[in-house]
Amino acid sequence: MSSYELGKGIEMSTNPLLSEATITAPAEGQDDLSPGNPANDGADDRAVVRASDPNDERGTDRAALRAALKPLVLKGPAYRARRARIENLRLGVQLASLAVIVWIGWQFTRWVFALQAGRLEGTRPPGIEGFLPISALLTFRHWLETGEVSRVHPAGFVILGLVVATGLLLKKAFCSWLCPIGTLSESLAAIGRNLFAPLLRRMRAPRVRLPRWADLPLRSIKYLLLAFFVYAIFVKMTPRDVALFLGSPYNKVADVKMMLFFAQISTLALKTLVVLIGLSIVVPYFWCRYLCPYGALLGVTSLLSPLKITRTPKNCIDCGLCAKACPSNLAVDRATRVSSDECFGCLSCVAACPVPSALAVETPAPWRRAVRPTVFAALVVVLFFGGINAARLAGYWRTEISEQEYLRRVQEVNAPKYSHARGSVPEYGRGD
Ligand code: SF4
Ligand code: SF4
Repeated sequence: MSSYELGKGIEMSTNPLLSEATITAPAEGQDDLSPGNPANDGADDRAVVRASDPNDERGTDRAALRAALKPLVLKGPAYRARRARIENLRLGVQLASLAVIVWIGWQFTRWVFALQAGRLEGTRPPGIEGFLPISALLTFRHWLETGEVSRVHPAGFVILGLVVATGLLLKKAFCSWLCPIGTLSESLAAIGRNLFAPLLRRMRAPRVRLPRWADLPLRSIKYLLLAFFVYAIFVKMTPRDVALFLGSPYNKVADVKMMLFFAQISTLALKTLVVLIGLSIVVPYFWCRYLCPYGALLGVTSLLSPLKITRTPKNCIDCGLCAKACPSNLAVDRATRVSSDECFGCLSCVAACPVPSALAVETPAPWRRAVRPTVFAALVVVLFFGGINAARLAGYWRTEISEQEYLRRVQEVNAPKYSHARGSVPEYGRGD
């Protein structure tokens, strides 16, 4: 076996007997290329260039092989810089989005507590309606049937529409770039990676992964949950039920009820939350991968996305770094175009690839244009936040419920009329 330096931190060694080459590339911030360095997703970055590689036929002259691969492979510092650039870009968008959501949560909590104390203080941020997906789905059905957007929670409807739009155009980019639960899941996965680093090193695995026999049925749970909601809302409820729900006292304070649910959390709900957090540390992205109905909806819509991760086999050196970096455990290094409903559009694979021309987000054939990570990020942000601003300008953002009405309703929020049983609300009169 002999080795060649393709650049600082990227090394290729060949075994003429086996006709295979090993590419060793460093992870971000990793100069130690020894196998099993946990800095690189808990696993070493070595992989075998298979004999199927056009540049690796039996008997290939080593110098020719080196010469063929050298211009394709990014050198150590360039590789690290590119990887860091793409990863930091997503981290920046995630943190900015999280900051907006924390600000919304803070403003809303202050506003509700003031209402409970009988004061009108601050304003209700409409973005809080992003946490009312059931109400948004009902508003969507009502809009389909009547052409009217209910003005009780119009922002929730707009946000649902924009989430679906991102899925249709940009895979599940909402999950990996904007969703606060996605960001939280990623942080918990990182904690798990550090906790289990020695074990992962021994297993030579980038992350804990459930066996296929458990993973597949568990992945279907989120689709079953989505199917349940779709059945309950679009099949079981009549148009009258939908209109009754949308105008009900319960729906009008659904956001307040949600906040009070977390502020006065029951022991059972708290235990469930702790179990979910624990599971997300052990099994990365447990909530997103197995349980989130929003993720299921995006998974379905993302199948139609024209932009997909695309590998160019003639430029690929079969190092396998993309597959190791993929949080969804997708075999990116085997696919030509990643169509999976589990692709988050996170670009971790693109960042990890040492040959920029081998892997990119691309438009479909016959146009085949690569979309740069910065452009992809801009599309995510402009589509989502631009859409919100367009809805704001068009008057589909603020609720029709006045602050005075909220003040009255929050005072009586525990009355029976502010309840529902499986989507069915108590009959109410005009004064309610
Ligand atoms: S295939 Fe690439 S973009 Fe899709 S989830 Fe895996 S790493 Fe992220
Ligand atoms: S596409 Fe994947 S396997 Fe091919 S060079 Fe890039 S990281 Fe390596």
